[in-house]
Amino acid sequence: AQERVFNFAAGPAILPESVLLRAQSELYVWPGSGMSVMEMSHRGKEFKSIIEKAESDLRTLLQIPPEYSVLFLQGGATSQFAALPLNLCAAATDPVDYVVTGSWSDKAFKEAQKFCKPNVVWSGKAEKYTKIPPFGELKQNPDAKYLHICANETIHGVEFKNYPTPKNPNGVLVADMSSNFCSKPVDVSKFGVIYAGAQKNVGPSGVTIVIIRNDLIGHAQGLTPVMFDYKIHAENNSLYNTPPCYGIYMCGLVFEDLLEQGGLVEVEKKNQKKAEILYNAIDGSNGFYKSPVEKSVRSLMNVPFTLEKSELEGEFIKEAAKEKMVQLKGHRSVGGMRASIYNAMPLAGVQKLVAFMKDFQARHA
Ligand code: PMP
Repeated sequence: AQERVFNFAAGPAILPESVLLRAQSELYVWPGSGMSVMEMSHRGKEFKSIIEKAESDLRTLLQIPPEYSVLFLQGGATSQFAALPLNLCAAATDPVDYVVTGSWSDKAFKEAQKFCKPNVVWSGKAEKYTKIPPFGELKQNPDAKYLHICANETIHGVEFKNYPTPKNPNGVLVADMSSNFCSKPVDVSKFGVIYAGAQKNVGPSGVTIVIIRNDLIGHAQGLTPVMFDYKIHAENNSLYNTPPCYGIYMCGLVFEDLLEQGGLVEVEKKNQKKAEILYNAIDGSNGFYKSPVEKSVRSLMNVPFTLEKSELEGEFIKEAAKEKMVQLKGHRSVGGMRASIYNAMPLAGVQKLVAFMKDFQARHA
């Protein structure tokens, strides 16, 4: 067998070994169909059973209330940055609110500027995106159609541990959960829309999942392209056009695996344990390693850290790769290191990283 590495990439990212092996065993012939999932008609009964099971398992995992639709779309979370204002604002003059806690919420805000009147209710930029604001500090517009947050900033490693309420009683909370989707239980009923690219926690790139309250569907601005109109996709059960069939199948296998692990309560416990040993290693290093993020909002998924002797960073990354721990380089915009420890990263991977960090420190302190 070919040896695998511990892949700490931010996305596309590590997938569960059991899921990859199952996909391998079903690659040539999906049981009973005589063909691969990649060759199937998206309108056939076999693929229908695959997408319906994926949706129903996701509904079980997140306990999605019946008044919400689940859409399997394409175009990445980036397309949702435009789809949200196009669907939730009646006109380009509608006000909406954005909490800017890092690069991703900033990108979402900037895209919205083309389609509505977004307002930044708080920005962490001056503090290098190391904080989540106390919700009382949000300067919300009482007329905002929605309040947008990025639940977990993949680059900066800050994560909302609870959620703000929109000031407008008719407004809704919208969350980009790309990098912490299905990493812990979430009360879906607090949100109007949750969206996520699949390629961090639940599958390959190419699938974007949108969970949306049904009353928010059907109000898209007239110029909205069909591919961005939630109503089109909801009415057609995500089969208006050819969906990313194989990616949806892979997400389905991941959802099954998460349910077999005992669901998101169990998954969260594992994620807390992994994050705890990594942050403890950083905090217990006498400043050799440093986490820039305020303790109470540190992400369980993406752990950025720096070396006090920053000139050693290249060496750290090179030596780690030699020991089969890869993709530890921080995002080009922030530098340093970043260990992404999504659901599929085994505890053994984090333990190995921590042991390496201690050894590296002993040799270079
Ligand atoms: N939001 C977040 C939080 C992300 O991490 C990413 C991807 N890294 C995106 C949005 C953009 O996603 P995509 O590349 O799927 O468009």
